[in-house]
Amino acid sequence: MDNLELARQLHEKNDSKIVLLVADGLGGLPVKPGGPTELEAAKTPHLDALARNGVLGNSIPILPGITPGSGPGHLSLFGYDPLKYIIGRGVLESVGIGFELTARDVAARGNFCTLDDRGNILDRRAGRIPTEESAPLAGKLAEITLPGVDIFVEPVREHRFVLVLRGDGLGSRLPDTDPQATGVPPLEPTASDAASEGTAKLVKEFVRQAQEVLKDQSRANGVTLRGFASLPEIPQFKDVFGLRAAAIAVYPMYKGLASLVGMDIVGQAQSLSEEIDIMKEAWSDYDFFFVHFKYTDSTGEDGAFDKKVERIEEFDAIIPGVTALDPTVLIVTGDHSTPCLLKSHSWHPVPTLLAGPYCRPDRAGTFGEDAALMGGLGHFEGKYLMLLAMAHAGRLGKFGA
Ligand code: ZN
Repeated sequence: MDNLELARQLHEKNDSKIVLLVADGLGGLPVKPGGPTELEAAKTPHLDALARNGVLGNSIPILPGITPGSGPGHLSLFGYDPLKYIIGRGVLESVGIGFELTARDVAARGNFCTLDDRGNILDRRAGRIPTEESAPLAGKLAEITLPGVDIFVEPVREHRFVLVLRGDGLGSRLPDTDPQATGVPPLEPTASDAASEGTAKLVKEFVRQAQEVLKDQSRANGVTLRGFASLPEIPQFKDVFGLRAAAIAVYPMYKGLASLVGMDIVGQAQSLSEEIDIMKEAWSDYDFFFVHFKYTDSTGEDGAFDKKVERIEEFDAIIPGVTALDPTVLIVTGDHSTPCLLKSHSWHPVPTLLAGPYCRPDRAGTFGEDAALMGGLGHFEGKYLMLLAMAHAGRLGKFGA
């Protein structure tokens, strides 16, 4: 029996509210030995106050040493074993733009690229062609027809699009056609298993026709495809935890991830403060709120220590608006670390704060990496965070007699 099955069997209903605030890429590193991390350098009076009354710990998103993408990082926070529930890039991109995938679909993430006159890739992103130029091209590709399947080509931003093939008996085991290099042609679509051979043929024909449609374009005259995937079978949040869950995010990918596990996407926030306003409005309709804040990750990826500190302080400033709603359990964490020092996601555990009734006192008096080491939650696998949230909210019954 795994943690989801336990939650399914043990969950109970009550009037409690659980809020999960995710500052993407929250965890960091000192830039010089002995220095503070981003979170430690930030002035976070509200988070520190929560830390004094709550309990801290270090969340390990996947496994020690494994650097997660935001997809698996979030699935883990939602309680799903990220090594068991694998969500392909194509599916993520599709749900991220609000495209409703069906069980008969195979989705891939597409890039417009620039090819030279010998068919070699000059620019893998077609000079980051603006969306105003790329969206009409995606529209043209959507007119391509293939035997026996429906085709959807949906624009994303800049050089990106989503390709969805819909039909019976499609397979999704196709390697990427993006060679991740310039000076070479895109790779031929092939199949990694017998069940995907027919699909590979269809994709090959799609690429051939796409090249024809795009041949007079100066920048976006080619395409590459990656992350072929179909919809995973994933237990729904409502059934597993018995929670009516709302997801509030600005960026499509996070809304998409939440919708895959069955959360309702609420509102169309464009900023963190709008996200909190939306939560306030929806407060009586849901038991669980996932709120996503992106900029702690993007500033980390830029290696902009001071900017990440500012973003953390911006995040801290919304805490009073959240506590004013009086959630039973309030969790603050990240889906992974994004230290400015590394300018990328990393494997480091994520400082995590849980505030609520029944928190056993610990020695953590501020919210930060060092303080988290003195926290009562210790190091724990991210996928167990939901069990902790449920228990503190009085929503988990006893296991066994
Ligand atoms: Zn992330």
